[in-house]
Amino acid sequence: MIKAMNSHDADARPAVDGRYDVVVVGAGAAGLNAALLLGRARREVAVIDAGEPRNAPAAHMHGFLSRDGLPPATLLELGRAEIARYGVRLVRGRVEEIEHGFSVRLEGGPVLAARRVLVATGLRDELPDIPGVRERWGRDVLHCPYCHGYEVGDQPLAVLGTHTGAVHQALLLRQWSDDVVFLTHTLDLSAHDCERLEARGLRIVEGEIDHLVVESGRLRGIELVDGRVLPRAAAFLFPRMVPHDELLTRLGCARDDTGWIATDRTGRTGVSGVWAAGNVIDPRAQVVTAAGMGAAAAFAINADLVDEDVRHAVEQHRAPAAASG
Ligand SMILES: Cc1cc2nc3c(=O)[nH]c(=O)nc-3n(C[C@H](O)[C@H](O)[C@H](O)COP(=O)(O)OP(=O)(O)OC[C@H]3O[C@@H](n4cnc5c(N)ncnc54)[C@H](O)[C@@H]3O)c2cc1C
Repeated sequence: MIKAMNSHDADARPAVDGRYDVVVVGAGAAGLNAALLLGRARREVAVIDAGEPRNAPAAHMHGFLSRDGLPPATLLELGRAEIARYGVRLVRGRVEEIEHGFSVRLEGGPVLAARRVLVATGLRDELPDIPGVRERWGRDVLHCPYCHGYEVGDQPLAVLGTHTGAVHQALLLRQWSDDVVFLTHTLDLSAHDCERLEARGLRIVEGEIDHLVVESGRLRGIELVDGRVLPRAAAFLFPRMVPHDELLTRLGCARDDTGWIATDRTGRTGVSGVWAAGNVIDPRAQVVTAAGMGAAAAFAINADLVDEDVRHAVEQHRAPAAASG
């Protein structure tokens, strides 16, 4: 039987204090999919979300079976409607702190008690300070060939040398267009990198980028400080990806030697009762994989709760016998 069906308007309810089996922080693909499965497992679940998903600047989301091309906001709307059907409570807000036990404190004061927490807060993309990049991010300044390469295929493309990851990105991008220019900008390319790029037919252009040329709401080209303008339809760059993992580190969750929070395959961190899923622990997670990580975490959290429920049940079951003996 489905639990309460009345939490569709949860945002409108003023007080959020209460006790939950699981509080999920973040309602992107990872958090929503976890909440869906936990709600269907008849757990009391609250999801807190600040409403800033990473792919918000993009008009379309690609590479998600059966949802290819959907606006990212529509996927999340559908997900929110689905979790509401299972009585999951969605609260708009930002979690400031999670204390052991767990108390989940929101900005402005409300506190939710939870038996387990799942942190699915994503990451932020730090962009290079090149005029035009921020405005065109997710439109025709892109980072992921798998997400947007097909849409700009066979067009004149640029890769901006702002990060060491740009060489690999450029070699990948060549799969989608045979007109890819690599702008060295601030990057020192090794002879090995130059050889690999040139062997694959990429053109290397040395010089610092001044700004992106944007006309009529579209990227038209890239202007270098020496005045040269390279007409380009889209540009790719590798952002610095910074996980929103402060809630986890303050709880004592350790990072591994890659600098990301260490978890097992279900997203279980080293701190008992604390799970994480999606981009907050894996920069490579796409929407579909973030959703999958949320599902894996939900199964593990529910199993952990079942273990605890069984332990309590056995204690209670034995208690009368112990009292009478
Ligand atoms: C421009 C762009 C386009 C992309 N296009 C695609 C694509 O086409 N296909 C694809 O598969 N992937 C795409 N991606 C990658 C995609 O954005 C991620 O894979 C996906 O968003 C990861 O989901 P997530 O749930 O881990 O994090 P997010 O979707 O970022 O969700 C995290 C949520 O947590 C909330 N949050 C953070 N901190 C707190 C807090 N303290 N309290 C409460 N809430 C908090 C945030 O506001 C946000 O709503 C794109 C990325 C970018 C940057």
